Amino acid sequence: MKGLYASIFLLIILFLSLSACKNDDADEGPIDNTIENKQPLGTSAEDILSDDRYDKLKFELVYTESYRPEAESVNAFKNFVNARVVKPGGVQFIEREIPNQAGAPFTLDQIKTIEEEYRTLYNETGTVAIYIFFSNGSSSNDTQSSVTLGTAYRNTSVVVYQKTLELITQSDPELLPILEQTTLEHEFGHILGLINLQNDDIHNAHEDPSNSKHCIVEECLMYFNATNVGRSALNRFMARGMVPQLDPLCIADLQAKGGQ
Ligand SMILES: [Zn+2]
Ligand SMILES: [Zn+2]
Repeated sequence: MKGLYASIFLLIILFLSLSACKNDDADEGPIDNTIENKQPLGTSAEDILSDDRYDKLKFELVYTESYRPEAESVNAFKNFVNARVVKPGGVQFIEREIPNQAGAPFTLDQIKTIEEEYRTLYNETGTVAIYIFFSNGSSSNDTQSSVTLGTAYRNTSVVVYQKTLELITQSDPELLPILEQTTLEHEFGHILGLINLQNDDIHNAHEDPSNSKHCIVEECLMYFNATNVGRSALNRFMARGMVPQLDPLCIADLQAKGGQ
């Protein structure tokens, strides 16, 4: 009898663990750990600026062989980021080359598909990750009279239309780093919630009523609309020959969300 009980007991255990196995397979499926990085623009501002949830920040800079950003621009961007965020665990910049992408000019959906395929860094415990693609093709929204230099399109995703930047500055190559830095820093400003992207900035009165989500202060980095810039406005901007800085109101907004 003892042997029979033992066998039944073993059978029950075996049955239980088999059904547990089956449930695991049927119910859970692959876990998508990218969800946190597919949220609306501006929603991760505090996570990126402060050290409350994440004490490290990682950037994944992805480009193709022929449209690599200038080293000078990447360095300036590093300084810009380090001046604004509070990350005691450090800020890391990882650069990766990917194959030339076909199908330009690119719609935003195509840009998202490229991200799906090539982005490797996502949020993990203690680390918030941002992806920036330097595109080898222009935006499908470009017209005769306006171009797109860059777009921040999710909480941690940016595209910089590198080919467009290089075309525009072809006759004046020393302007390329200025335009690259301006576009990079401006789009990162949107990732940080500027201006009033989630309707929660403390100084929302500096949002430009005629150019929503941009700053009303003409000298500010966030005044310039890199998502849809008229060619004459672009020429005026480039004639200034310098990268605009964030004005005190924009900086105060970032500080209110845990930045510096
Ligand atoms: Zn903008
Ligand atoms: Zn501003």
